[in-house]
Amino acid sequence: MAVDTTLAEMHWKHDLLGSIEVGIVVLNKNYEVQVWNQFMENHSNIVPGFIKDKNLFEFFPEIDKNWFMRKAEPAFTLRCPVFVIWEQRPYLFKFGTNRPISSQAEHMYQNITIFPLASLSGQVEQICVLVYDVTDEAVSRAGIQTLNKELEKVSRVDGLTGLFNRRYWEEQFELEFKREKRNDHPSSVVMIDIDHFKKVNDKYGHPAGDDVIRALAELIKKATRETDVCGRYGGEEFAILLPNTPVANVEFLTERIRRLVEKYTVVHEEHEISFTISTGIAGFDRKFNDHVQWLDAADHALYKAKTSGRNKVVLSD
Ligand code: GH3
Ligand code: MG
Ligand code: MG
Repeated sequence: MAVDTTLAEMHWKHDLLGSIEVGIVVLNKNYEVQVWNQFMENHSNIVPGFIKDKNLFEFFPEIDKNWFMRKAEPAFTLRCPVFVIWEQRPYLFKFGTNRPISSQAEHMYQNITIFPLASLSGQVEQICVLVYDVTDEAVSRAGIQTLNKELEKVSRVDGLTGLFNRRYWEEQFELEFKREKRNDHPSSVVMIDIDHFKKVNDKYGHPAGDDVIRALAELIKKATRETDVCGRYGGEEFAILLPNTPVANVEFLTERIRRLVEKYTVVHEEHEISFTISTGIAGFDRKFNDHVQWLDAADHALYKAKTSGRNKVVLSD
């Protein structure tokens, strides 16, 4: 009877070790493999009979030996379990995944638990390493992160031009205003508006107008530096914040953009469309109480450019 029970128990344990979707590895103090379950066999293609009594590190060079021994130490000495989650270390064993190629995972992500196995005498002679496949969790987390980044970008960027949208641009501008108060290198702000843009729409149609807006955005992007903050402020209005740039330099730059635009033609279907822009510039001034006053100064200069004949750059006084 006793023998039967033991046998039944063995079968039961064997089945359990085999069917469970967790890797089970028992190691002795020399890190020689004592138990290697079906999960480990399936993913490593190493059968238990082959790895039994062999040193784990010889089979898995990807395991940082010193790190792992340091990690496992408390299980032997303090008899407490040790956990390593995939965020700390993506995997212990470099196993492939059986997930579709479309999945972002190139390997199995693993959570690891190491716990002590005490003998009857109470001594810890062996440790048990459990390997959990958490690839789905890791991939969906990574997917969400990518999605969040996309959403963040979308919420900052204007769809037509790829420049910052008005809301985000204004946020940056307001932050810059606060920095300006403590800055010895004053920044400048620019407002640009396409001249007689209604005529472009009327004559060539709205999609042609969109092409003109996109073309101007490209010219602005090319002419400015990476540190400049370029935004689409409204329909055919653009705003540029140029940190640590005095108005004299900005005048030079915007005059260059004005001339480039003047010479440029946008080709839409069979039409060649020419256009011009008017520009207002305002350097930071300590008399401004808030960022709105600063932008108003640039807007006022733009208004002067419009009323004095358009296709001009005007400095705020
Ligand atoms: P001004 O020289 O005084 O600036 O003349 P304007 O015709 O450009 O005058 P205004 O700024 O009032 O007109 C802007 C026009 O831009 C009005 C609107 O129909 C058009 N518009 C606004 N947003 C868009 C857009 O996204 N695409 C196109 N194609 N047109 C737009
Ligand atoms: Mg306008
Ligand atoms: Mg206009």
